Amino acid sequence: MSTTVPPRPLRVGMFGGAFDPPHWAHRALADTALSQLALDVLHILPTGQAWHKSRTLTPSAHRVAMCERAFAGLRGVRVDTREIQRNGPSYTADTLAELAAEYPGAQLFLMLGADQLLAFKTWVRWPEVLQRATLAVANRGVNIGVDADPNQPSVQDLSAVDIPFIPLAMPLQHISATAVRAHVRGGSRRFPDLDVLVPEGVARYISEHHLYQHSSA
Ligand code: ATP
Repeated sequence: MSTTVPPRPLRVGMFGGAFDPPHWAHRALADTALSQLALDVLHILPTGQAWHKSRTLTPSAHRVAMCERAFAGLRGVRVDTREIQRNGPSYTADTLAELAAEYPGAQLFLMLGADQLLAFKTWVRWPEVLQRATLAVANRGVNIGVDADPNQPSVQDLSAVDIPFIPLAMPLQHISATAVRAHVRGGSRRFPDLDVLVPEGVARYISEHHLYQHSSA
């Protein structure tokens, strides 16, 4: 007699960010999430009008092109431009509602860094986000600015966080997009080469398109 095993629900991740530019920590986070959470698909969502960022972002076409390069070769990754195309501010709750409709019965996961977890209760409709998705969090150094000393890492303290999340098992990555932009415009000499901070395709794209040479932050 043969028994049929019911198919397991699809495991779908979303990872949003300004990705201005995407860097090695973003790729490491996606790579870790794909394997640790056994994701079938991971949507990478460059933000449109990020409601929580005050600086003007680099035009979305560049950020999308850099995401294609930054996450290239990771199985199951889709660079998804829906938040850019959406009119008005973009909210994670809306994107999760769309993904839930597109993948009926799937288990949804939301990837984020520790700084975003600590700010999570400021997110629009955060209880709905929690209801729809399991949070998966990469820890992040507190000391991540341009002048950060990589020998003195100081990790975000998440012990007081009272919302459920899965910690992503990845080594701390002391990189931020702010530090990459500062490096390109010459504000930081800490790292010798851009491709220490960003995947090679992104480094080449930044250089070919003269990005971040005059950015203010
Ligand atoms: P910026 O320096 O411009 O604020 P960023 O480096 O934080 O940018 P984002 O595109 O804003 O990059 O980040 C997208 C997501 O990736 C966020 O959830 C953020 O917490 C996470 N993230 C970014 N850098 C790291 C890192 N070094 N370690 C862990 N998570 C990170």
